[in-house]
Amino acid sequence: MTPWGRFFLPGPTEVRLEVLAAMSHPVISHRGPEMSALLRQADPGLRTLFRTARPVYVATASATGLMEAGVRCGVRKRALALVNGAFAERFRDLVGDCGRDCESYTVAWGEAHDPEEVERRLRVGDFDAVTVTHSETSTGVLNPLAEIAEAVRAVSDDILLLVDGVTSVGGAPVETDAWGLDWTLTGSQKAMALPPGLAFGTASARMLERAGTLPGRGQYFDLLEFDAQWKRFQTPQTPAVSLIYALVEQLGRMEQEGWDARLARHQQMAERCWQWAEGRGLQLFAPAGYRSPTVTTISLPPEQPGSQVAARLTERGYTIGAGYGKLKDTTIRLGHMGDHTVQELDALLTELEEVLA
Ligand SMILES: *Cc1c(COP(=O)(O)O)cnc(C)c1O
Repeated sequence: MTPWGRFFLPGPTEVRLEVLAAMSHPVISHRGPEMSALLRQADPGLRTLFRTARPVYVATASATGLMEAGVRCGVRKRALALVNGAFAERFRDLVGDCGRDCESYTVAWGEAHDPEEVERRLRVGDFDAVTVTHSETSTGVLNPLAEIAEAVRAVSDDILLLVDGVTSVGGAPVETDAWGLDWTLTGSQKAMALPPGLAFGTASARMLERAGTLPGRGQYFDLLEFDAQWKRFQTPQTPAVSLIYALVEQLGRMEQEGWDARLARHQQMAERCWQWAEGRGLQLFAPAGYRSPTVTTISLPPEQPGSQVAARLTERGYTIGAGYGKLKDTTIRLGHMGDHTVQELDALLTELEEVLA
């Protein structure tokens, strides 16, 4: 077994032993008081994580499930999709897959969206929703979400902002209520450092109101069902009970570290990567000011293909991500999120230095 502190994939991320061990609790009835007590216990931590006074729903699904929930329950006729990488493309595609119209505001992979341009496009088009990827895991770009939200709010109260926060919630500042986000979601296996299998999302009052007017919401991802069940600290269907034990354990660990300290640690790890790369004349794929604190994408010279660099690190017992999709060989991606420490990251960078030498 590989020792801890060497698994730097940008999701799934490493899960600490205490969190894994929490799952060895005997399985319980998902309709009994013990289950409600668990979800009640998770509630304050989840709200702190999302910075919201609203409920945070717990879904047994990967994050894409809650992206789809956002589209089914939040897009009436037509959305503006902000596209700047592979996950943003997925969000855009989901809009069409769910039978809604979609227009893309596309910028190159590696770039962030311009809030002024978002506002301009919303003013001239007939949109009722916007999809955005906060931290684009394929490129390492962090979109200026607060400013984008401000732009959306400036145009109309009837436009809902749907946010993929998968590699941001828990690792980057996300102010659901203060920024007025209508649907914010993440998955368990990224910055929350839980095993894959759960997704979390929080909806504004406006979002639930909109959901009530939309037919064809389906059953499994109907947010009104989630909301009704949440009031009793229950879930619509059988949840992944064991993972919820891990969730409660992990939220306790996060609280112990301190929510702000957790974000500061992510920022430190990111800055360490940036300094390291720039100190070696390597180019960072994301521009300064728009770099995610959870994933760093580094451009490589042609003689050092990303897939090969990742494979050579595997031989040394370390895991990183090769580039994503079309960036497979021109970049590598370091996932420094979840419970990793600066010290562990330094050890990885030392190995990487030798591989690249
Ligand atoms: C990983 C990821 C997803 C997809 O998550 P799944 O849990 O695999 O469905 C979506 N968006 C972003 C930004 C991601 O990093």
